Amino acid sequence: MKLILLGAPGAGKGTVAKLLTELDGSVQISTGDILRGAVQAGSDLGKQAEAFMNAGDLVPDELIMGIMEKRLQEPDCAKGFLLDGFPRTIPQAEQLKTLLEKINIKLDMAVNIDVPKDVILDRLSTRRTCSNGDCQAIYNVKSNPPKQEGKCDKCGSPVIQREDETKEAISHRLKTYDEKTAPLIGFYDKENMLLTVSATSSDDVINAIKGKLAS
Ligand code: ADP
Ligand code: ZN
Repeated sequence: MKLILLGAPGAGKGTVAKLLTELDGSVQISTGDILRGAVQAGSDLGKQAEAFMNAGDLVPDELIMGIMEKRLQEPDCAKGFLLDGFPRTIPQAEQLKTLLEKINIKLDMAVNIDVPKDVILDRLSTRRTCSNGDCQAIYNVKSNPPKQEGKCDKCGSPVIQREDETKEAISHRLKTYDEKTAPLIGFYDKENMLLTVSATSSDDVINAIKGKLAS
């Protein structure tokens, strides 16, 4: 499957993407994970992105498009991919459309995961992430804590609160979402590609996607 996952920070894009990869071998492409990995590795990309990310601002479109133009042409994408956190602005969506036409790829749909604001706020403040850039497993202190406190189940690295998950940065990220990313819902609706799923359970989201793909 070739999907775009839309939704506010904390809507569950990453969790849903991971579950979908288990269905048919499609790869998850998370621009947030790629960027955090680059920051940790101290690469040029990481150096350019870090300050924007820590403030809860978007990284410039040119940087993101440079990453994605290469990533989408890697061989593992042939089977399918789940775009998690990209596109995030109208210019990114327009440039993605042009890019996909050029490399002859057709998307199945864009899925808007619609979750109430109070749930989002609660999830973001209780979310924890594995600090190992190659792992980045996600936990929640209330609903899904690591087996051993503060330690990743998968790789044993410390589990931390992300730099952009302080109260200030969270509210800034949500504002950025409303201003810059929410308009993509209308964009993909016009393209006749939109599926909106209002659900807080990732299993319900997965079932809605499966149902639509089968129809
Ligand atoms: P979340 O969805 O929880 O906000 P992500 O992990 O998707 O977090 O992204 C973290 C940060 O990485 C964003 O706040 C932003 O700074 C940057 N980022 C990720 N994807 C993009 C994108 N497509 N365009 C611009 N910035 C991005
Ligand atoms: Zn880990």
